[in-house]
Amino acid sequence: MNNDLNESKIAEILRGVLNGGSEYLPLHEPSFYGSEWEYVKDCLDSGWVSSAGKYVELLERKLEAYTGAVHAISVVNGTAALHLCLRLLGVGNGDEVLMPALTFIATANAVSYCGAIPHFVDSDWKTLGICPEKLAVYLNEIAERKGCGCRNSRTGRPIKAMIVMHTLGHPANLEPLLEICEKYGLLLIEDAAEALGSLYKGKHAGTVGTISSLSFNGNKIVTTGGGGAVLTNDDELAYRAKHLSTTAKRSHVWEFIHDAIGYNYRMPNLNAALGCAQMEQLDDFIHKKRKLAEKYKEAFQDVEGISFFAEPEYARSNYWLNALVLDREYTHRRDTLLEILNRQGIGARPLWKLMSELEMYRGCPRMDLSVAEGLVQGVINIPSSAGLINIT
Ligand SMILES: *Cc1c(COP(=O)(O)O)cnc(C)c1O
Repeated sequence: MNNDLNESKIAEILRGVLNGGSEYLPLHEPSFYGSEWEYVKDCLDSGWVSSAGKYVELLERKLEAYTGAVHAISVVNGTAALHLCLRLLGVGNGDEVLMPALTFIATANAVSYCGAIPHFVDSDWKTLGICPEKLAVYLNEIAERKGCGCRNSRTGRPIKAMIVMHTLGHPANLEPLLEICEKYGLLLIEDAAEALGSLYKGKHAGTVGTISSLSFNGNKIVTTGGGGAVLTNDDELAYRAKHLSTTAKRSHVWEFIHDAIGYNYRMPNLNAALGCAQMEQLDDFIHKKRKLAEKYKEAFQDVEGISFFAEPEYARSNYWLNALVLDREYTHRRDTLLEILNRQGIGARPLWKLMSELEMYRGCPRMDLSVAEGLVQGVINIPSSAGLINIT
């Protein structure tokens, strides 16, 4: 076998897909081709830039209409959305929460904010999400049903919930994961920060679990500058999400009555205005991203040592970030490839480091993480902005 990964050839193919040119191609940048200027200007003209104004409501209704979730509650960022999800499900001091080791730091941090402990589980090569088969075997060894929930027999702590993350926009295999949650009495939270508009068997990511979080950070498929949302079909959870995110203030014409220790997580009107304009273009963004993914897939079909990561067969992904996967025998060349691509103006990036390897999470419980470790070594994200495709 030819044991040479041709880094320059890979750079050339990428440039080819991205229409040549020599300008720097960032990993992801937002597109503002719609009513962004008009709606933001409207906020400035009306003076409603902060905690009141019509766009917050409007964004929430747009999110509900788009995803089919019964309730959307907008907040300041995706991390805050996750924190609320966990709080609302009663995750607290000393509880363990199952979550992938392969995720963005926000997932683990939100668990820590509740005084709970992340319990890291492995991923699946085919989906980049939690591997249900491997998790089932592991839980069979360590989890004990107890009352209506379950307990980690090794630490003695309750395992309260599972956070499923849809990596790079590709939905995790939710059905078997839901079954596991039912078997062990766990609540399912979807961290759908990367997956707005992605479908799992026809259902929107973020509408399958009990409660979910979205992010509208500047690098996500839809941005509000900074922002996030909680999605749920449960009326009570939705009411409490809104209440807790707005300092738990009871509505009253002039009196300040706060009936819980809430948070100031409300999304400002200015950000929501940007989000409304972005939501109107979401179908177009997804269309373009899927077109770009198709081009990448075709271009890398016969390239030695590397392949394009395609959506799982049950999914229609938003392809938030496109990814290449190095064959196992070439993973030692990952950093050289990243170095060369970046030197040539292609904003390629690795995945995150595993949470379990970070200083503050090193002591947390975990299962064997060999697949996640392999994915970190093999996956390279490549430029994925919707604006790279010039079609409408
Ligand atoms: C972006 C992201 C979040 C939330 O990020 P914020 O910057 O707080 O909006 C959470 N989880 C994952 C997996 C993400 O990619």
